[in-house]
Amino acid sequence: MTTSFETFELRPELLQALAEKGITAPSDIQAQAIPLVSQGRDLIAQSQTGSGKTLAYLLPILNRLNPALKELQAVVLAPTRELGMQILGEMERYGEPLGLRSQALIGGAAISRQIEKLRLHPHLVVGTPGRIMELIQARKLKMHEVRTIVADEADQLVSLSTVEDVKRILKSALRDRQLLFFSATVTPELQRIADRWMREPALVEIRPEQRTASTIEHYAVVCEERDKLDVLRRLYYALKPASALVFVNEIEPMAEVVGKLEFGGIPAAALYGDAPKQERTKVLGRFREGKLKLLVATDVAARGLDIENITHVFHLDPAPDADHYVHRVGRTGRMGKQGVTVSIVAEREAFILRKFEEQLGIRIERRTLAEGKLLAPGAARRGAGTRAGGRPSPGPDARRGNTTVADVSATPKPAAAAAERPPQGPAPAARKRADGSGAAAAPSAAAGKAKARERERERDKKNKGAPKWLKAKQSQRPDPPQA
Ligand code: AMP
Repeated sequence: MTTSFETFELRPELLQALAEKGITAPSDIQAQAIPLVSQGRDLIAQSQTGSGKTLAYLLPILNRLNPALKELQAVVLAPTRELGMQILGEMERYGEPLGLRSQALIGGAAISRQIEKLRLHPHLVVGTPGRIMELIQARKLKMHEVRTIVADEADQLVSLSTVEDVKRILKSALRDRQLLFFSATVTPELQRIADRWMREPALVEIRPEQRTASTIEHYAVVCEERDKLDVLRRLYYALKPASALVFVNEIEPMAEVVGKLEFGGIPAAALYGDAPKQERTKVLGRFREGKLKLLVATDVAARGLDIENITHVFHLDPAPDADHYVHRVGRTGRMGKQGVTVSIVAEREAFILRKFEEQLGIRIERRTLAEGKLLAPGAARRGAGTRAGGRPSPGPDARRGNTTVADVSATPKPAAAAAERPPQGPAPAARKRADGSGAAAAPSAAAGKAKARERERERDKKNKGAPKWLKAKQSQRPDPPQA
């Protein structure tokens, strides 16, 4: 893209702030969205995470706000505290040189302090929908001069309980306000809300056929369920990530995962979504400083995090669907940087990755760990270790002759998986079912009870080492419904 920020007629203060941050050329989403936002169009912008979408809406908004007015002129909605605070950082960096005041209105923080600060008449605010609605209802936040409302991570905003607050906020504003949705995915729910609340929105889609950055290499390592943590540990020593996220699907095992990683000498911590604020800030601070190498998180906890220089994303549990996969891997390979993502899956889960390959138009290449390296299955069998170093070599060479998840999982018992561990006993029932060679029996009532007891024991075991606030919370949780 040959455009420059000058072509958008941005104020000199903005151009200077961009230059100071070393941002010289607009990203694709910025090149397309900035002119539309400047024209006052409603907009649905679909772009991958880490593509520079915050500035795609902030620059044109800041460019036209009037610092002389003591009115709230723009509102940005964000689904999480972290994303909200990141956006506030950008608002301040680029808004202050223009004399614009920004404020965060995030749920969980003291509302009295926010009300106090609102007396300074911010020109723009960023906040979570619940808190913003609360302040509107308390008549502390006046919406009648708001010209622009942005929903960042809009798919998330309308999929949560926040959707009703979002609608009420839209209702409270002027009819002719500008509405902007920025989202990695456009879900049917988001489309419905757009149809209802937007006027002839412009659409910007950045490479919808490839929603993950092309600088990310996707790999899968297949192992037994019980070996996953060990594989993660070995991956850590093989790839030596400077900074990596480890995704899990449930909160309960997080403490155990961290405990085992630490025991293996790996500086790791868990990022709990609903941990007390200071705790999250402390963990994120240590991770940013490089004191923690692995950060174990759920999708909710990691949503919208913009941490620079995450080199690797590991999936200890496979992403629940392609959208989550996009969000997870979007934490690395940001703004043209290289990134590596490795899914650690049991054989019976390999089909999930095949679905991602189809849906996202990517290749997730199967790899095996041997001799402390991540190798293509063929290379491991030959035992050659032909690729030097821990990092798998990317590019056409690596692709040639390599197996994707789809190729290998068609084979009943892949040599790659066998090469990874010493020979073991008979295949577990789970694998039999995945092969289609045995049906799962319907659980009887007695089996159900035994399962519940087993679950309880599991939970106790997993809770070992969890922070106190989390243990207390989990002991109040009911058992999951029976399958
Ligand atoms: P975002 O997608 O908004 O979370 O932005 C990801 C990161 O890219 C942020 O740290 C931005 O400061 C940075 N960034 C935004 N736009 C550009 C650009 N045009 N060139 C380089 N970096 C950028």
